[in-house]
Amino acid sequence: MTMVKVRFAPSPTGFLHVGNARLALANWLFARRMGGVFLLRLDDTDVERSRAEYAAGIEEDIRWLGLDWDEFARQSDRMARYDGAAERLKSAGRLYPCYETAEELALKRKIQLGQGKPPVYDRAALKLDAGARAALEAAGRRPHWRFLLLDEPVEWRDLARGVAHFESGHMSDPVLLREDGQPLYTLSSVVDDCEMGITQVIRGEDHVANTAVQIQIFRALGCAVPEFAHLPLLVGADGKPLSKRLESLSLRALRASGIEPMALCGYLAHLGAPVAATGNETLAALAATFEIGGFGRAQPRFDPAELEHLNARVLHHLPFEAVRARLAELGIGQADAAFWKTVQPNLGTLAEAADWWRILHGRVDGEIADPAFCAEAARLLPAEPWDENTFQAWTGAVKAATGRKGRDLFMPLRLVLTGTEHGPELRLLLPMLGRRRVLARLAGENA
Ligand code: GLU
Repeated sequence: MTMVKVRFAPSPTGFLHVGNARLALANWLFARRMGGVFLLRLDDTDVERSRAEYAAGIEEDIRWLGLDWDEFARQSDRMARYDGAAERLKSAGRLYPCYETAEELALKRKIQLGQGKPPVYDRAALKLDAGARAALEAAGRRPHWRFLLLDEPVEWRDLARGVAHFESGHMSDPVLLREDGQPLYTLSSVVDDCEMGITQVIRGEDHVANTAVQIQIFRALGCAVPEFAHLPLLVGADGKPLSKRLESLSLRALRASGIEPMALCGYLAHLGAPVAATGNETLAALAATFEIGGFGRAQPRFDPAELEHLNARVLHHLPFEAVRARLAELGIGQADAAFWKTVQPNLGTLAEAADWWRILHGRVDGEIADPAFCAEAARLLPAEPWDENTFQAWTGAVKAATGRKGRDLFMPLRLVLTGTEHGPELRLLLPMLGRRRVLARLAGENA
């Protein structure tokens, strides 16, 4: 049996966003499930738009997600391979020179549309004889090169969509080489998929029409045609395309806002699937049950609020050891397992742990709404040593002395001790604060 090999092939013309991450993840999970190879390929033939900064950022973001790659390639290292393939297509009569300018092509399209015809390239350049071509070149025109599509239907069994069918007659012959000789993605991708032995191409459904064309190119180059899976594109929570919001949905932006990589992976792996993520997933567990056909055909909604919710659940599952180093990076290297256990259930992002550390060890802002009550509570504060039961003993005594109960009893204490209405359990916070600090806060000394 052939070894499964898939690739994630971003163009380094920007940073990765959630849509890219979903495809990276789908490819990686598929490779791991099948015991295959995951290739990271940078599609950087577009020299004007590709940037080293984005290429480095892509690698960093994929590592941040927790994905590793078995092989790495960049298309800019392989230009000679694309030239070679283009030469073979030219010799086979499948790549032909065209001399129309962008303006001429736009005019042709306008006329076709005006006549109610589909704007398909009319192959006028195919009819030029050697003399006409020589005359154009003598006049300074340089050709771009189009692939001659065969007028036959293209069909494949898509692993995500089922049977896909295309009539090549409705498509323009695609340009594979630009005027300056630069190969375009449509060609370079096929050459790489072929020469690198890609067995499944898993990508977004925005590439379905490319696939119809590329299958003909695979065949023209004498290559085995891989299988294809086109995943439906994500839309926003409002059902509209994500395209306008991609910057805020870049992996960097999500990372900066405190999203955990495993929350994003768990969320994306379940998006479009019938079961939701729990926040307790691991990449290995996701890989063990991954089904490429499980995504469905509907466009899944990417809802940042759901992701945030899942993020909290992921944090609520993490053991102290998993966050120890990151807490140190947040400036709270003294935080211990007891602190983590206390604040963990209240976190939406890890950085909030540092806020709680400051609340415990720094200053608390807020006014004492009820000084008499606080003075009474201070008077009844038990002697140390304190433990998790101290709070109950203390508030029992305060309740007996003041007659307060429920929210009236607890909220003034919470506010004066933490400066906020919500937070970890006071019975756990109290021993961490210690008697000296609790007394000072009850006296409004803001310690
Ligand atoms: N570089 C292409 C893109 O980012 C790759 C598409 C493909 O997977 O073939 O859309």
